[in-house]
Amino acid sequence: MAKATTTIRQTLNHKPEHGAWFAANQALFNQVTAFYFSVIQAHELVLELGKQEALTALEQLTHKTKKNPNPIMPLSEIAEDVPAMFRRAAIHAALGSARSFYAHLKSWRARKEKALAKGKRFTERPPVPPRSWNKSTTIYAGQWKERSASSIMLKVWTGSCWSWVRCRITGRELPDGAALGSPQLVRRGKEWWLHTPVERKFSSPAKVEEQITTNAQTNICAVDLNMDGTIAVCTVQTAEGSTLATRFISGGPAVSGFRKKQLGRIARNRSKTGLLALGEQDNADLWRKINQRDEDFAHQVSHRIVQFAREQGATILVFEHLGNLQPEQGRYSHRGNRKRAFWMKGRIFRYSKYKAWNQAGIITCRVNPKNTSRQCARCGAQVIRYAQGQPEEGYQVGAPLVVCPECKMRGHADRNASIKIGRKLLARYQQAPEPKEKTEEKPQAPQPRAERSAKVEGVISSQDARGEKQPSIAAARHGTGNGHGTAHKGRRGRMGTAFLSIPTTLRPPME
Ligand SMILES: [Zn+2]
Repeated sequence: MAKATTTIRQTLNHKPEHGAWFAANQALFNQVTAFYFSVIQAHELVLELGKQEALTALEQLTHKTKKNPNPIMPLSEIAEDVPAMFRRAAIHAALGSARSFYAHLKSWRARKEKALAKGKRFTERPPVPPRSWNKSTTIYAGQWKERSASSIMLKVWTGSCWSWVRCRITGRELPDGAALGSPQLVRRGKEWWLHTPVERKFSSPAKVEEQITTNAQTNICAVDLNMDGTIAVCTVQTAEGSTLATRFISGGPAVSGFRKKQLGRIARNRSKTGLLALGEQDNADLWRKINQRDEDFAHQVSHRIVQFAREQGATILVFEHLGNLQPEQGRYSHRGNRKRAFWMKGRIFRYSKYKAWNQAGIITCRVNPKNTSRQCARCGAQVIRYAQGQPEEGYQVGAPLVVCPECKMRGHADRNASIKIGRKLLARYQQAPEPKEKTEEKPQAPQPRAERSAKVEGVISSQDARGEKQPSIAAARHGTGNGHGTAHKGRRGRMGTAFLSIPTTLRPPME
């Protein structure tokens, strides 16, 4: 089974005085968590136990009961009458932090030992345990009740007692029949939000190699991302190589223009104020504007990419590796703008990856960017790239049109690139999908774009998509393929209908 987790964020509408209660509740939660962290530090062996055993051991060390009248480090010295579920949430938060801290410490010690063994100086500082705690409260079942679409009851520490509070919920609705995890009470400025993880399980899609080599009807959606102009060009093709549909996603110039204008304003402000204060963000409002617009745009574009892939029944999404940003000359606003346009490509890739996986179990991978825009997607020959009204000769970087001198293919340059990206993925698993594929591995001319080796993205690394069984093509890519990838029309090795009837299993209350 594969898993996809999304977080539904909702606003809590509460009475003004409840805000102070939530804050007191969070302060207590962090106090108790810090206490358990210190208990774990004093009893490091706890970390070698499993989740449940560690919880039991820590409760025995701290929680006073009839059977356990004299715990070694009583929690009651920190706070009296902490509800069991509040305590357990804090214990798990402390365990999480401690596991992470000790893992870092362990790898630091290993690096140190290695360096000293080689007789090198080792100056890296050791990781330090958290000095302050600012975790959001996780609310386990028992600490919340009567949840409906529009309200919830929460049990909170008001600063003087435990009290049930009813809050109205607004914002995004929870999906029907979803398995809800334990919500978190999150502070955002003056507001309080409820973050609820929603988990969905579905049968794991087949590996990319299997999908491509065993089913000629597998649709793959290849995406060419650009820094300007048409921001993304998506083309869907089947595993046997016929192109089905293309979508151009624009909007790049508007965002780029907006960004450049704001960067220009920042540069002018800076020239007026002179020196910048160290460690202080200048022009915070303008930077926030830029980030907000970039973030929104990346979400919109990735949404449309995934939407298109789903409409076309694609089960694999392909991008090219990003390469490096080439340094450029020019004004501050121009350089800053190019840099952000480049980062935008990475953002769109990451968002598309998790959206594709979360919404439809679509696997995302990447191919080597070498020659994707220089070669003809049909025959592999070097193309001529030109603009309308120009002579059809030479190669002009960034020009919108291509013509192939060999097979006379004509078309949009970015569309050609997106098809080529898809072909590259197919070529990885199929032996002879196109005639010139073999020569492609050798560069034919010095490349203007920075290169990266053909690495397969460890398909799903986004935390949302971390499942028990991750679809991994890393293992599959070394396979030889069967050489006649289009022959089998047999079973459809992907999620098929199972995906539609998603079994929902509740996440255990403690996590
Ligand atoms: Zn051609």
